[in-house]
Amino acid sequence: ALLFKVSRTTAINAYRHLEKDGYVNIKNGSGTYVSDRYALENKTSNEIPWPQLLKPHIQPSMASLMSELMVSSFVEDKISLDAGMPDPSYYPIDIFSKLHRDYLGELAPRDFGHIPVQGYEPLRHTIAQMLNLEGIKCHSNEVIILSGSQQGLYLTAKVLVEPGDYVIVQTPTYLGAIQVFQALGARVLSLPQREDFSFEILEDYLARYRPKLLYCIPTFRNPNGAVINTEERKKLIQLAARYRLAILEDDPYSKYYYEDPPPMSLKSFDNYGGVVYLSTFSKTLMPGLRLGYMVAHPSLISRIILEKQYIDLHSNNISQWLLDLFIKEGYLEKHLIKMRGVYKNRRNVMADALNLGLKSKISFNIPKGGFYIWCRIIDNISSRKLLQETLKMGVSFVPGEAFYAVAGEDKDFRLCFSQHNEKVILEGISRLEKAIEKFKKG
Ligand code: PMP
Repeated sequence: ALLFKVSRTTAINAYRHLEKDGYVNIKNGSGTYVSDRYALENKTSNEIPWPQLLKPHIQPSMASLMSELMVSSFVEDKISLDAGMPDPSYYPIDIFSKLHRDYLGELAPRDFGHIPVQGYEPLRHTIAQMLNLEGIKCHSNEVIILSGSQQGLYLTAKVLVEPGDYVIVQTPTYLGAIQVFQALGARVLSLPQREDFSFEILEDYLARYRPKLLYCIPTFRNPNGAVINTEERKKLIQLAARYRLAILEDDPYSKYYYEDPPPMSLKSFDNYGGVVYLSTFSKTLMPGLRLGYMVAHPSLISRIILEKQYIDLHSNNISQWLLDLFIKEGYLEKHLIKMRGVYKNRRNVMADALNLGLKSKISFNIPKGGFYIWCRIIDNISSRKLLQETLKMGVSFVPGEAFYAVAGEDKDFRLCFSQHNEKVILEGISRLEKAIEKFKKG
């Protein structure tokens, strides 16, 4: 007989694969066996063997967590303080229906056909006007409409990053961005969380690794609400310009400020054409619109247009048309004024409840905007393990390790205060309190 020497890890990994596909039987006290089904199916099945045909890919960290969290938000009776979404009961659906009714007659059949990849021109124009008022000098030619800002993250990385390239992120940061970079084979360098911006570490990374891109959420960062101040923004642009470093500025939350308005965007200080600005209507209106946009240098925009064409030809025309009407008729501004009030109150209620019931158990900062309170457990409890306990009590949050490119931190977690009303938030925090108590006792 032929004998092959196989490492223990290889054998374990092979068993894990088989287990995932349901081919392993575990017999208590006896051992782990590969089921007969494996032999049978693989001998007789004429089904196409998809797993063998798929090209190799890099499994990003926490690959399934985002989709799991999105699905879990719909479980009955569970209080989800996880997914960062606006409160659905405030979606301006009635206004969208009214606009649809009032203006549908103005559309010609061809408006339901294809439009240019770059997006519906009137909406691009409206967005460019809005941005110019916010200090971002741009022409509608430099704006592309996207199917959500997630698409912008992917497209930007797709056209810039080759496997092995370095991308810098601030940590903690948005899981969906880390995953995109990792999936495209990037090596992700982290800037640690500090009170100030870690300029000397950034400069060290720039000199050593010549990264392709710096990804950042300068305003009310997901997950910890951090803000880069104006002075640091200017300094960051200077440094980036010196190294010709591209910056991907992701800005979904800046309209949700609960104290003074936040500093102007990084893009508004861009004097070297290197900032790619990305925003979305998923937080300001509703994620189901699937509309976001990017403003960038024309050379980048034309390449992004090409890549977007490969993916979806263009984003949904009807959403774009309705959104344009919504903004032009002044509804967006009104909606934002209302929602700032709603979310500010929820932030305060959540912060007060945490202060009251959990002060000795967790530490946190009150964010000046955005959707999240970032917490740190004082005792030696892992937030992932705590989540298992809180899920039993019907309350969920996102464990902190999801926001790091390299595993390590596990005492942090993110609570989202936007989705539920004050009463539900209070119930959620009370359940969380009980879960921590129980965990400590157990
Ligand atoms: N960037 C950040 C920082 C986010 O928090 C999100 C949504 N959670 C996105 C991008 C993606 O949003 P969308 O694709 O819905 O626009």
